[in-house]
Order: sequence, then structure tokens, then C-alpha cells
Amino acid sequence: MDLVIARPEGLYCPPGDFYIDPWRAVERSVITHGHGDHARTGNSHYLAAEPGAGILRARLGQDINLQTLAYGETLKHHGVTLSFHPAGHVLGSAQVRLEYEGEVWVASGDYKVEPDGTCAPFEPVRCHTFITESTFGLPIYRWQPQAEIFAEINHWWRTNQQQGKASVLFCYAFGKAQRILHGIDSTLGPIVAHGSVEPLNRVYRDAGIFIPPTLYAGDIKKTDPLLRQALILAPPSAGGSTWMRRFGDYSDAFASGWMRLRGPRRRRGVDRGFVLSDHADWPGLLWAIEQTGAERVMVTHGSVGTLVRYLCDKGLDAQGFATEYGDEEEATVEVEPAP
Ligand SMILES: [Zn+2]
Ligand SMILES: [Zn+2]
Repeated sequence: MDLVIARPEGLYCPPGDFYIDPWRAVERSVITHGHGDHARTGNSHYLAAEPGAGILRARLGQDINLQTLAYGETLKHHGVTLSFHPAGHVLGSAQVRLEYEGEVWVASGDYKVEPDGTCAPFEPVRCHTFITESTFGLPIYRWQPQAEIFAEINHWWRTNQQQGKASVLFCYAFGKAQRILHGIDSTLGPIVAHGSVEPLNRVYRDAGIFIPPTLYAGDIKKTDPLLRQALILAPPSAGGSTWMRRFGDYSDAFASGWMRLRGPRRRRGVDRGFVLSDHADWPGLLWAIEQTGAERVMVTHGSVGTLVRYLCDKGLDAQGFATEYGDEEEATVEVEPAP
């Protein structure tokens, strides 16, 4: 019996009668993490890993009907034993383990295998069937160690300071921004956070994650020389907006796994691209899948076909799973054409 099937509302567990990260409003939802394509409003009941509670409430509303479990804690519902296990993607992100009549399934949600200090590191979970994401499921995606990327960002920031330019770094507001703040050398100069980034910084700080002090852009005068020394973190949607005008002369950059490709980098028109992803790269996906010991693998997100073919060639029972999950790293930066 399949413990998870695709339904129009989302991934559904028939014996448990609940949905995992449904894309339409349902009665009972199990949420892997707070990104918008996985955690949506309107569900009557939410179940999630405890470290993600602050994020879910910040994004979906303080009044959602939310029940939480610590990582590894089990809950039995209609004969299905459910537990959450760290996915290493963003604060509170979890894989969902389901066990029913001796059969074990794990739905990964989004995951990353390199620990980054801003959330519990990915833990492989043994299972018969593994539902994996494959956002970057092509052999060309191989991440450099994040320490090298942070060194590049520090160097770019320092170079801009020497030239008297502000450093505007576009990145997704939840997860990526906090990982950057945690990883860069915050002693280099002042850090300014966009209004959509700051509330999430607060949730991370409340969870005991080190996020350096940040200034609110609205509190700084346009003429303040401090801005020329600052690193500014903003969501891609802020690019080209009037919000950007206050920074005067600036260099801009975008941090995303998609910066691995030359095409998208050019299209976005930013000065620099930093290849930093909160998803597993190709070797990471293969390692994670192997660690589960699963004989059957269902692939969601991204390059489904390539990964499915690769796994089938290795003798696994692999197939694509149609979902409506998007990709939070794909958001385009709106950038004004260069003068
Ligand atoms: Zn995600
Ligand atoms: Zn996703």
C-alpha cells in the first residue's frame, strides 16, 4: 500500500487521512517547512517540527491551529506513526517519516546536506520509499564549500567599501538571508536588512541562532556615509524599486544556486552572482538517497527526468511525482537597465 499518493490538493496519506505540504486548503496538514510553496494559509490544522513554529506563525499568522513535535518525537494517528527529522534546509525544516504496518516512507521536503549552523543538520532516515526533491537534480550542480562562497562575499563587500560603494546583496528573505548573515564576516562594516528580512532575523535570534546586529534601512538617512560601508540584504523583489534609490552608488549581487548558470546571471543584470543554495546539489542528492537505503524513490521538484533515469539505471524503482512545489531560489531580481 502506498503511504503517500498525489491528489489535487497535495501529497496525501490515505491511512492517516492527512496531507503533506498541501497546495490547496485541507483539514489536516503536515508541513515540512515555512517556504511559501510548502506552507500555505487556510488549513484547519497544522502539524510541524517544533523549531519551525516561530517561522510558521510569522508567515501564516499567529493564530494558526498549530501542533508541533520535537525532532524524533512520534505521534500515532489512525495507525500511522509520524515523526519529523532534520532536513538542514532552513530553520525548522523537516523530513516526514511515516510508518504503517511495517512499511516506512520518508517525504524529504526541501533539504541540504551541508550543515550551515542556522538549523539542525540533515539526518538521513532509513526507509523503504523516499520522496526526494530534485531542485538541482542535474550533474552540473556541484556546490563549492560554503566557506569559499562566504569568503567571496566578504571580499566583494570589502572591495566595494574601498571604492565607496554600498553592497546590495539580493537573496531570498527566509533562510538564505539568515544563512548569509550567519556566515559572513560581520565585523567588516554595518549591515542593513530590508523590512521583509528583519522579522525573520528576529525569529532566528529568538531560536538562539547567531545573527549579527542589523540596521533598518528606514532609520538611515540617504546621505549617511555609513551606507557606503554597508552590506544591504534585500529580497529580489526590491531590485529596481524606489527603495534602492537611497543607496546611491552601489554594487549589486545575487545569491542563489541558479548563479551556477551563466544565462540567468546575465538576465538578472546584477554585478555579481554567488552560488549559494539551500538545496542539495547533485552529489548531495545521490548521497542522501543512498543513505536512506530506499528501494523506491519518488522524485519531486525540478529536474525530475534526469534523476529518475539515473536512479533507474542504478536498479532502483524510481518515478516522478507531480507536485505544485515551486522554487524559492528562482525569484527573479528586477533590475533597472544599466545606464
Ligand atoms: Zn524550501
Ligand atoms: Zn520546495
